Amino acid sequence: PLKGIDGRIDQVCLIIYDVTDVAINRRQLQAANAELQRLSSTDRLTGLYNRGHWEEMLRLDYARHRRYDSQAALVMFDIDHFKAINDNYGHQAGDAVIQQVAGLIRENLRDSDVAGRYGGEEFVVLLPDTDKEGALMFAERLRYVVEACEVRHEQHRIRFTISLGVADLSAPSNGHAQLIEWADSALYASKSAGRNRVTLHQI
Ligand code: GH3
Ligand code: MG
Ligand code: MG
Repeated sequence: PLKGIDGRIDQVCLIIYDVTDVAINRRQLQAANAELQRLSSTDRLTGLYNRGHWEEMLRLDYARHRRYDSQAALVMFDIDHFKAINDNYGHQAGDAVIQQVAGLIRENLRDSDVAGRYGGEEFVVLLPDTDKEGALMFAERLRYVVEACEVRHEQHRIRFTISLGVADLSAPSNGHAQLIEWADSALYASKSAGRNRVTLHQI
């Protein structure tokens, strides 16, 4: 309000700021941050979570299961004789196989499951609120769909299999890393027993 000489308010001053640029910049910053977050947590080739992010999610979920004493299971698997695929058909064919496997995982997941690329051709899937029977069913289904699929690369039709290890939280464990160790040793047992199979870690 602006007072005149006689003390009466007869005018009003309005100041309007245009903050469009500020708002747009803030939006762009938020979008860039979200994209950075996505890039730092996912694997380029497959779009699955990368090892670091996946392991962090396992750590958090492990703590939650501890607190509520709920079930959870871990499936870990590795493509069989993958080096031969690279050697026989080339690295790009190997990459196509890895991408195909990631696609098959996605098709067979539930929304609550957390899948990651653990290493070159090693994958992990955390199944929250799932007991060992459920996890074995999931693992066996995955083994089957991989065995049944065929990757076409150039003139080649590539068939391959995976070996899987399953571990769950029904026995006392001393941390999320132990669950990984258990699944890994079950996976190793699947390899030793001839590959293309699922092994449950038994304590
Ligand atoms: P096994 O049945 O015992 O698992 O035999 P394998 O030949 O699969 O042996 P291993 O698991 O040690 O092979 C891993 C190979 O995967 C070695 C590495 O060159 C290859 N590799 C790792 N990451 C990638 C990738 O992103 N793309 C391609 N094409 N190859 C990869
Ligand atoms: Mg392998
Ligand atoms: Mg391997």
